[in-house]
Amino acid sequence: MKLASVGRIILKSPREIELMRAAGRLVNRVLCELEGRIRPGVTTAELDEVATELIRSAGATALFQGVQTPQARFPFPSSICASVNEVVVHGIPDARPLSEGDVVSIDCGVRLQGYCGDAARTFSVGRAAPAAQELLDAARAALELAVEEIRPGKRWSQVARRMQRLVEGRGFSVVREFVGHGIGREMHEEPKIPNYWSRGAGNADFELVPGMTLAVEPMITAGQPEVEFADATHWPVVTRDRSWAAHFEDTVAVTESGADVLSDGR
Ligand code: MG
Ligand code: MG
Repeated sequence: MKLASVGRIILKSPREIELMRAAGRLVNRVLCELEGRIRPGVTTAELDEVATELIRSAGATALFQGVQTPQARFPFPSSICASVNEVVVHGIPDARPLSEGDVVSIDCGVRLQGYCGDAARTFSVGRAAPAAQELLDAARAALELAVEEIRPGKRWSQVARRMQRLVEGRGFSVVREFVGHGIGREMHEEPKIPNYWSRGAGNADFELVPGMTLAVEPMITAGQPEVEFADATHWPVVTRDRSWAAHFEDTVAVTESGADVLSDGR
C-alpha cells in the first residue's frame, strides 16, 4: 500500500498525475497562444479575453478568477495575472497598451476534470533591453535548475539554496514574501515552496517524495528583494524599489528518478 500523504502533503497517484498533466497542457497552450500575441499596442485585457475563451472552450475553469485574500478590496477579477515591469505578481489585466521593451509576466492556472495546473512565463514586448533579457534568463534558469535538482530523498532546502545562489550570482534578488506551493485538486496545497533558504527564517523544510506535485515559481527582481502592494486594492505586488521583476513557474511531479514537468506542453 502506497502512502497517500507525507504529513500534510498529499501524494498523487499516476492517474491523478496524468489528469494534472492535462490541466498543465491547457495552461501551456494558453501561455503559448498569448506569447504569440504579445507586441507593442496590445493590452493585457485583450490577452485575458483570449485566455478566458481558451479555458472556457476546453471545459476548464480559471483558478484565479474570484480568488479573495484577507487584504484584497475585491476578488481577483480576471482569468490570468498580467504583471508588467515592476509588478512582480497578481497584476490585473487592464486597458493600457504594452510598450516596446516592457516585460510582462503572464500567470495562468486552470482546473480541468477536478485537477489543477499552474504556470507562468515572463515575456519581453518586442525587443528586450540587454539588462531585461538577463533578468528573464535568470528567472527561467532558476526554474530549470530546480527541475534538474528535484529528486527523491533530497530536501527542498538543498534545491532552494541552489536557486538562490544562481539568481544572486547573476546580480539579482529572490523575492521572499511570495513562494511556490503544493498543487493538486486545489491550487494551493501544502507545502510552501520558497525559492531561497535562510536558517531560522521560519522555513519548513521537507524531503522530496515520489507523487508530490509542486508549483515551483521563482520570482526575482533586478534590485532589492522587498515587495509591497501597488495600491489600496491590495492586488498587484510591486518591488518596493520599483526595479523590474520576472516570474517563471511550472507544475512539477516528483518521480522515482527526478522531476516530471506537467506544464511544458508535452
Ligand atoms: Mg501561477
Ligand atoms: Mg502558483
